Amino acid sequence: MPIFCATVEIPTAKVPAARRIPVFFFLDFFAQFHKINSYLIDWGAILTAKIDQIKDFSIPHRIVPAIRRADLFNRIRSDHERGALSDDIFRNYARIFDCPPPTGFSAGSLIVGAVAQPRSRIPFAWRDRRFFLRVPPSYIRYWNMVRRLEQDLNGLLRPAGFQAQFARVPQKALAVLSGLALYGRNNIAYVPGLGSYHMLVSYYSDRPAIVDGQWAEPRQMDRCGQCQACLKACPTGAIRPKAFPIRQDLCLTFYAGYSGPRELPSWLDPGLIDGLIGCEVCQAACPENRLFLSSEIEEEGFSADETGILLANGSPESIPPALMAKLERLGLVEFFGRRECLQMMASKLALFIPRVESGAIPSEDDALKGRPHRA
Ligand code: SF4
Ligand code: SF4
Repeated sequence: MPIFCATVEIPTAKVPAARRIPVFFFLDFFAQFHKINSYLIDWGAILTAKIDQIKDFSIPHRIVPAIRRADLFNRIRSDHERGALSDDIFRNYARIFDCPPPTGFSAGSLIVGAVAQPRSRIPFAWRDRRFFLRVPPSYIRYWNMVRRLEQDLNGLLRPAGFQAQFARVPQKALAVLSGLALYGRNNIAYVPGLGSYHMLVSYYSDRPAIVDGQWAEPRQMDRCGQCQACLKACPTGAIRPKAFPIRQDLCLTFYAGYSGPRELPSWLDPGLIDGLIGCEVCQAACPENRLFLSSEIEEEGFSADETGILLANGSPESIPPALMAKLERLGLVEFFGRRECLQMMASKLALFIPRVESGAIPSEDDALKGRPHRA
């Protein structure tokens, strides 16, 4: 059973450091006593001031009242209105907010957690060469992770009479507003101890949120004040020196297949696309991630025959079952959908294979030595 390890910090303004936790604990305790005395209270956690967490849940997490979902939407709408979010991205968010609430219970809280996720690269064979395409965190086996953690959570909550169900919410915003993560200049969520190499997960629960003290304006990491590494590395100029957030309409992640194939805009040089999905350039350049870059998972790869089949972009029905099973094991079919996954693979291979043939793609040796993966 994994071990849950978030420590919640309590609001601190005007309270002497030594007395912060007890003062706020009692304020919250008395305010909510009439509600919480009927719940199973984890007294051990309360006594150690780890108030709003689920003991034994395995990942850093925060819990906020479910009504914060409305606040998330309001913030996203106002970001859109002031021009910080493009219409396309806002439409994606609107679809998320159209998702129905949990079935079978009334949500009292939203739980957001971060699971460590090393870099991944997928090997492909093509003629006499073997090359790798990187995949940033959040794509490989994402839904497996969501289900496993949902099971873990329910195993912990059910004995206390509560349950949890996956929540479709803007997870990055929830992580930052709840205090689980900080923004980097590159608009990526950084979790202490994990850098940006993690997957965010979110759940509704009928367990109430006992404290809400962490909900705050999004903050950027202190380090970003003195650093411009991501800004200098970004190939499209999406990261701005004096403005936040990034120019999402310039960010390759938006165009590089994260939600299926898109028509590339005319300004975008396809040669800038760097991996199978999304773009990892600013994360790889970030000093906050230095510790996490050396561990990289090599995923199950594709033979030359399989690469050829994927490149041909056949219908799902024409794909050999063993090849489809491989895509399913990577979690990409569930993430994108069968047809969209095949289209995404075909369009990326069509982009990279000419570079493999011309020798512009790094050889296997280069990749193993960790040299830049720019094709
Ligand atoms: S590279 Fe530097 S500026 Fe960019 S997110 Fe990382 S620490 Fe912040
Ligand atoms: S993901 Fe790529 S394109 Fe987007 S901001 Fe980072 S480096 Fe720039």
